[in-house]
This record gives sequence, structure tokens and C-alpha cells, in this order.
Amino acid sequence: AQLDTLDIIVLAVILCGSVAYFTKGTYWGIAKDPYASTYSAANGNKAAKTRNIVEKMDETGKNCVVFYGSQTGTAEDYASRLAKEGKSRFGLETMVADLEDYEYENLDTFPEDKVAVFVLATYGEGEPTDNAVDFYEFITGDEPTFSESSEPPLGNLKFVAFGLGNNTYEHYNSMVRNVTKALEKLGAVKIGAAGEGDDGAGTMEEDFLAWKDPMWTALAEKMGLEEREAVYEPVFGITEKEEFTKDSPEVYLGEPNKMHLEGTSKGPYNAHNPYIAPIAESREIFTVKDRNCLHLEIDISGSNLSYQTGDHIAVWPTNAGKEVDRFLAVAGLLPKRDAVIGVKALDPTAKVPFPTPTTYDAIVRYHMEICAPVSRQFVATLAPFAPTDAAKAEMAKLGSDKDYFQEQISKKYLNIAQTLEVIGGSEPWSAIPFSAFIEGLTKVQPRYYSISSSSLVQKNKISITAVVESMQIPGRTDALKGVTTNYLLALKQKQHGDPHPDPHGLTYDITGPRNKYDGVHVPVHVRHSNFKLPSDPSKPIIMIGPGTGVAPFRGFVQERAQQAKNGDEVGKTLLFFGCRKQTEDFLYSEEWKDYKEALGDKFELITAFSREGPKKVYVQHRLEEYAKEVNELLQQKAYFYVCGDAANMAREVNIVLAKIIAEQRGVPEAKGEEVVKAMRSSSQYQEDVW
Ligand code: FAD
Repeated sequence: AQLDTLDIIVLAVILCGSVAYFTKGTYWGIAKDPYASTYSAANGNKAAKTRNIVEKMDETGKNCVVFYGSQTGTAEDYASRLAKEGKSRFGLETMVADLEDYEYENLDTFPEDKVAVFVLATYGEGEPTDNAVDFYEFITGDEPTFSESSEPPLGNLKFVAFGLGNNTYEHYNSMVRNVTKALEKLGAVKIGAAGEGDDGAGTMEEDFLAWKDPMWTALAEKMGLEEREAVYEPVFGITEKEEFTKDSPEVYLGEPNKMHLEGTSKGPYNAHNPYIAPIAESREIFTVKDRNCLHLEIDISGSNLSYQTGDHIAVWPTNAGKEVDRFLAVAGLLPKRDAVIGVKALDPTAKVPFPTPTTYDAIVRYHMEICAPVSRQFVATLAPFAPTDAAKAEMAKLGSDKDYFQEQISKKYLNIAQTLEVIGGSEPWSAIPFSAFIEGLTKVQPRYYSISSSSLVQKNKISITAVVESMQIPGRTDALKGVTTNYLLALKQKQHGDPHPDPHGLTYDITGPRNKYDGVHVPVHVRHSNFKLPSDPSKPIIMIGPGTGVAPFRGFVQERAQQAKNGDEVGKTLLFFGCRKQTEDFLYSEEWKDYKEALGDKFELITAFSREGPKKVYVQHRLEEYAKEVNELLQQKAYFYVCGDAANMAREVNIVLAKIIAEQRGVPEAKGEEVVKAMRSSSQYQEDVW
């Protein structure tokens, strides 16, 4: 299965486009870190930053750099934790570095007595994270050119590596594997085994913890380090700024950067600078018992943001008031929630992850992922600050006993404040330095949504289709509520006339910092993706999108219906959709009829309702029934798309398709699998899964 030349050109253009997009900050000199100026001023540093890591380490007296390639913040978090541990346990002079902030051509001058650590997440289809694209291409390139031409080029470089991956994807941990291979080929010396964490098995944190101890032993031996009693040293200094109140104009109350604070927000809007977009429309497309699904229309006109059908929109959430209150109470900060503080990095290589001066309330509400799963290592770190001896002993036990931690914390889906509440009883944990929270909790991550509209039909409005996250946890009375989707639900309620939306008692600061999001706005940016329709509309396409996996396909079908109306020749358009019941959660059930009208027999919607018959029917079962037609379409070079659940559905579909090809073409199953693999590498088979 080969793509025709036009498609290859189009794909190449899209790819170049995305690379340019990812590397914008590097090539066009746009300040990547909107807080950089705040931070530099606070430290009295010059704003000019070197991109030479060897020079940077020299200047700051470091002998260990922990690079990270991170998409959702976990790799970045692990990098910080390694840096911290290296310093407190082994006296290493560590620094953390964003791969995007440095050049790699001079890695060949990396001194022999220093060490580099790489913490690398694999994203999507075995891809590097956005901030690691340049590094990855350089280091795995045919012949990376270094500043000096020694042989082997990286003979001096000692490194340690850990990867974050997901075994439900085909290219499991390919980033760390390929980078390790490339570094070793260039002569670099690996210390210890490269670690691999598996999000698919839900063991990421434990894989990381199990890997790091033998790694430290190996590193200590190689570098002649001696372990010492680890004492907590804060990375950030917190000072109360009595000269300000929360109403002082220079105080950040959740504004993402200086332009937003000063009311001069402008593009380019990206992962460092969101657009505060009006929500043009919002509704629930289904509501049953405790499940509901939102449809939102985000207005991007006049923002300079643009999108293409198949792209993603990122939503910047804020934490629910109930959880912010819980956190501040347990940390003993409730009376001080609006006190204005300055936060200063005590180490010149550390970055304050939010703009300052600000308030405790704003940090916890807008910048800290306070509802996320709790890290066992973090719990261990907090033990010395427990309010009672019993709590201290319990924290130490949780920190050191993996199974006990699983039983008491992970299984109950507790967040950090709930954990501290349970362990401390009614006592607040006032002794925890606030710096420990900044270091130990991930910064709030924007959540991605597959855009469910076509840019051909509505270029200035982006549709979102999102199921509101609500999970019943055995042994808990309250359900686990997703941060972003419940915030979006509150925005929807506000738009429909509720002045104080309060889904499930959560409450949100719905009008944003200084009421800047009033009139129903939400901070967003757009992420370009490679999940794209064939450039030639006459090509057939097959789409598999159960549940919210149908989101991008609503966009695809909307686009093709428009093309048909415009008189273009449109190819066969098959959509496999699945949900529980036709009468419950059948997304856009009415809209498909309009598209059918425009597309006629070119469009076919094939449904699978899992809870209607005696046997569960899923999309992959319907796909099997269509084996003959699917195979014929593929032979006519149909594109095949899968969107939605990565853990089960996407893998099943892959298996079923290989089987269909084998059966229909009369070849062995192994050959069918090979054909699917080849389809994937030529982008004839595309996935958008999460
Ligand atoms: P979160 O608060 O992030 O919680 C999500 C899950 O994390 C919970 O269900 C739970 O399993 C776990 N969790 C949270 N807190 C804890 C805890 N304390 N302990 C243990 N586990 C915990 N979704 C859509 O609905 N539609 C789309 O079109 C869509 N497209 C996507 C496209 C991409 C590329 C990606 C990466 C994701 C997409 N998603 C989509 C998923 C979406 O980004 C969000 O993950 C989803 O909406 C949940 O976000 P949330 O903030 O509401 O939930």
C-alpha cells in the first residue's frame, strides 16, 4: 500500500509545518518562557541566556544536568526529582534542563567528570515530545555534526536514561530506546540500565522508583560519590510581600503571563501563552444518570489562531474551589490564602513555574495539579514535616512500602490534600515548606481535545466534544471528578444562565483572574497534528471512532459533506461508531442524517451498541462484518483512521484489520500484520488515541 505522490508531498508539508511549529521558539527567537523576565529580575540576572549547556554548567558550578523531553509534565517532574535526589543524597551539583533550551552540537565537549541524565517521554506514535523534536532529529540523524571532530564524537559523555512510555502503543518507549542507541553509537557511555516506565500498565511511578535505586548505586560507583543523610533543602524561597495586597496591579491572580496581567495579551498563542477565547455556544449532547457529554464552540476569530481539520485544541483548566479550599486548609494556609508572596529560585538554574508576585490561592488554583495521583516518593519527602509522630510514621511507611501505598492511597484515587487529611486527622500540615509543594506537584497541564469541526466549514469556530469525567470509586462516597471537564461543565452552566455554577458542589473561579474571563471565556491554544484527511477528497476513507473518539470524524464528515455540496467528487466515507445505547449516548445522532443527505451513498455510518443485545457488540466486531468492503477500499488506497481509547479499542482494531487483510487476500496472518505495519509507516493508517 503506497500513497500517491501528491499525498506524500502534502504529508511532507504538514510534517515540516509541524516541526516548524514545534520549534518556533528556537528559530524565531520568541522568548519561550513567559516568566523568564520575572524570574531573572528577581535573581538580578541578565536576561540573555546561553544555549551552550557546557558553558552553563561551568558558570553555575554544576556537574550533573538532567534533561527532559516532556509533553504532559510527568517527565519534567521526574527530572526535577532526580536532580533533587542527586543533590540531597549524593551532593551532586545538579540542574534540570528543558531539551528545547540548549544546543546539542557541543555535547562532544561535555567534560568527562560530569554526567548527563535524559528523562524522555515517548508521545503518540513513537514520536518525541514537542520540546524534544530538535534534539531527537539531531542525535538520531545520519551524521550529527559536532563542534569538534574527535572520534568517537561523544567519547567523553557519561549518561543515564529513563523513558516514559505506554505499552499499548506499538512503539513502546521508542524515544529512550532510540536515543540510548544513538548516544552509544556516538561513543557515549551509559551508566546503569536505561529505565522504562509503563503508563499502559499503570506502573509508571513504581517503575521509576524501582529503576532509580540501582541507577544511583551505579552512578555513585562510577563517579566516586558518597551517599549522605538526605536533608530537605528548598529550591524556592518564599517571601511575604506586605507592600502589596491582592488588588495591587502588579500581583498575578492567575494571569498566565505579563501580557495577560497588563491586559495587552496578544499572539502568537501557544503552549506558553493561551488565548482567552469566548465560548460561542455550549450544550450537553447527552445526559444520562451520572454521565454527560459536552459540545462547545470556541470562537477564535480575531485571535490569529487557526486550525486544520484533525488538529487538537488545548484547554487550560483551573482547579475546583472545593479542592483549592481543601488543599489550603490542610497546608495550614487558609488564613493566608490572599497574602501576596514572592517566589525566588534559590538556585540560578531553577525556574519558578508561574509568574510572581502572586498569592497562595492563585498558585494552588491556577498552577498546581493538586487533584492528580499522588507520588509515593513525594509522600516520603513530606514525612519529616508531619504534624504528629503517628502521622510521621505512617508517611514513612507509605513512602517505603509499595503495596501498602497502593492499598491506602492509589486504589482510593486520593489526591495530595485528601492523603494529608486522612493521615494527619484534623491537624494541618503547617510545617511543610511551600517550596516542597512547588517542587513536588506537577504544574497544571492543558488538556487536549480532538477538534470536532471542519476548518473548511467553520474556520473561526472550534468544536469540542468532551465527556465529563466522573468516576465512582469503590469505598469512597464522593466520585472522582475530572479537573478540566467539570470546569467546562461549569462554563456551560454559566452560559445557560446560572450565575454561580456549581457542578457537584465543586464551584469554580469561573470569571477568571480579575474577572477577565467573564462573559464565558476559556483559555486555549491549538496544537497542530498529523491526523489529516487525504488531500484528494475523492479518495475513500474508513474511520473507527467509538465514544468521544468520533470527535475528529465529525470534523472529517462535516468537511466531506461541504465538499460534496461544493460539487467536488467525494470518495466513499465509512464511519464506524460505537456507544452503549442508541437512546443514551449516541453522539450527534441527528447530525449524521444531514451529512447523509449531502453525501448520499458515499457516506455510511455503521453503529455498534454495546449494551443493547445479549452480547456486547463493539466497533471491531462491525468492522469484521464489513471485511470484504474494507479490504476492497484499502486496495483502492483508502485511508484508515482510528480515534479514541488507546488501551483496548485501538489495539483490537489493529488486530482485526490485520486479520481481515489476511483472510480477504488469502495470505498468512503474519503477512496481514506486516501490511498494517506498512500502512502505518506510510500514514495510510493513522491514529489519534489517548
Ligand atoms: P483529569 O482530572 O485529568 O482526570 C483524568 C483521569 O486521571 C481520571 O479519570 C483518573 O483516571 C485519573 N486521575 C485523576 N485524578 C486522580 C487521582 N487523584 N488518583 C488517581 N487517578 C486520578 N477527551 C474527550 O472527551 N474528547 C476528545 O476529543 C479528546 N481528545 C483528546 C486528544 C488527545 C490528543 C488527548 C491526549 C486526549 C484527548 N482527550 C479527549 C482526553 C482529555 O484530554 C482529558 O484527558 C479528559 O477530558 C479528562 O480531563 P479532566 O481534566 O477532566 O480529567
